[in-house]
Amino acid sequence: SQNEKESLFIVLEYAQQYFAETMANTEEGQSVGQSYFIERGFSKAAIEKFQLGYALDSRNEFVKKAEKAGFSSDILEKAGLISVKEGDVKIDRFRGRVIFPIHNVAGKPIAFGARILKTDPKAPKYINSPETEIYHKSQIVYGIYQAKNAIRQADNCYLVEGYTDVVSLHQAGIENVVASSGTSLTPEQVRLIRRFSDNITVLYDGDAAGIKASLRGIDIILEEDMNVKSVVFPDGDDPDSYIRKVGGAAFSEYVKNHQKNFINFKTELSLADVGDDAIKKAELIADLVSSITKIPNPIKRSVFYQEVAKMLQIDENILINEGNKIVKTKI
Ligand code: ATP
Ligand code: MN
Ligand code: MN
Ligand code: MN
Repeated sequence: SQNEKESLFIVLEYAQQYFAETMANTEEGQSVGQSYFIERGFSKAAIEKFQLGYALDSRNEFVKKAEKAGFSSDILEKAGLISVKEGDVKIDRFRGRVIFPIHNVAGKPIAFGARILKTDPKAPKYINSPETEIYHKSQIVYGIYQAKNAIRQADNCYLVEGYTDVVSLHQAGIENVVASSGTSLTPEQVRLIRRFSDNITVLYDGDAAGIKASLRGIDIILEEDMNVKSVVFPDGDDPDSYIRKVGGAAFSEYVKNHQKNFINFKTELSLADVGDDAIKKAELIADLVSSITKIPNPIKRSVFYQEVAKMLQIDENILINEGNKIVKTKI
């Protein structure tokens, strides 16, 4: 209900403030949470801009405090802030982790991502809020509130995988950036970005998982009638680690020089594989044609057919015929 949504917004705002104050004003918050961010090179300004915080390593400090402040355990649970109930004791969902609030377009916190401090094979690196009445992870991208004006201004949106990639790029002055937060990209997320620009550049992690996710993301973006470019980072780097290594200027230079439209991106990825192998070449062509059929705009489709025809030396009409077959079998 509308009333319940309002209550959720209020309790999440309270929680965001609690995590930020815990980091700023408690001994544990400073020596553990703040130190973590400082060691990673995050500035005070970046911490404030993204309202980063810290959750104490305690079973229920937060719930106790929130209940004292007047929030019912029912609403705390609906907000995703309680993990389990052990008898009468309700346990904090986020414990001993640094906190990344996830904001809606209007800048209100709707959920949290929480990172463990030390790598531990037994514990997940990130814990996120569950789906709630106001948080649907398939409908939001991390950082949209902080990025929206810059996306409009640059008429381009960088899409990264992680929270830290977003914060890091902002800190280096690149503000038109949002994160899909590790989940596979959805049409709703793409439409949210499209409110501010028709152009997306995918900057996923330079590993097999990142490349695979980029390939999946491309078709989703094309289907929403948007333009997509992709960049592959050196193996093992993500945008955060890379920009820390080389700095903002060299980062932008790298992106400029390595961004490729989906045709060049896919072709170059499979090039090593394809070589002289006719069957592999045919598979690549089929894959490119399949992506082109996702594009709603017929003029753009035609331009890309021409490009594939030229690049892979194949008759354009054959490509178009194949594309039409795919579209027909789908209907
Ligand atoms: P860091 O630099 O702190 O290691 P990262 O953002 O580079 O973080 P990745 O492993 O590349 O971490 O994951 C990308 C994103 O995927 C994370 O920022 C987070 O949003 C999400 N993610 C990663 N691991 C998990 C997990 N175990 N559960 C839920 N989400 C996760
Ligand atoms: Mn990764
Ligand atoms: Mn990463
Ligand atoms: Mn990283």
